[in-house]
Amino acid sequence: MMHVQRFSRYANAYLIDETILIDAGIDPADITGYDPELIILTHCHFDHTCAASAIADRTGALIAIHEQDAGLLGDDYATASVLFNEDAPQITPDILLHGGETFKSSDYLLEAIHTPGHTPGSICIYESGTRSLFSGDTIFPGGGIGRCDLGGDISDLVHSIELLTSLDVAVLYPGHLNITDTDVSLQIRSSLIHARELTV
Ligand SMILES: [Zn+2]
Ligand SMILES: [Zn+2]
Repeated sequence: MMHVQRFSRYANAYLIDETILIDAGIDPADITGYDPELIILTHCHFDHTCAASAIADRTGALIAIHEQDAGLLGDDYATASVLFNEDAPQITPDILLHGGETFKSSDYLLEAIHTPGHTPGSICIYESGTRSLFSGDTIFPGGGIGRCDLGGDISDLVHSIELLTSLDVAVLYPGHLNITDTDVSLQIRSSLIHARELTV
């Protein structure tokens, strides 16, 4: 397993090698005591992004997000902040992702994969050395899938999960629910079946 710390409130944030934070969560206080250098946001939704600016202001961390979700960051509906009775988080990204970028921590090489569906600019992060997948809200354990009624698209989601089934994944780190290392490829295939059922 990777050396990962999980901070969990509404959504999971994962700190890798104490330097790269995948998603920021809602409360910057959760990350107090750590100084990440990079915050990679899996998508624009409020529960994953709200704390990003405050953490970046304190630590100087750069913020990366896919270009297609970057443009949605100020939108109360596209970020789902209305569901939390909050304004959209004010975030100015430093790095715009397209998919295919790699980021190195001391022990790991993280690759950004564009997986639209839950949102247009959703990404997953894959670490091939440990066969780890950080899936954001694209898929969840037990065959779960991200909802597509917050600016997403179900056929895009099907294509994205098809792509994920081609990866060799031993451990799944989802944006909600618990980390799982039990028959993960079976769980991902089950997510694909569920997503396909919603398109017919
Ligand atoms: Zn989401
Ligand atoms: Zn979420």
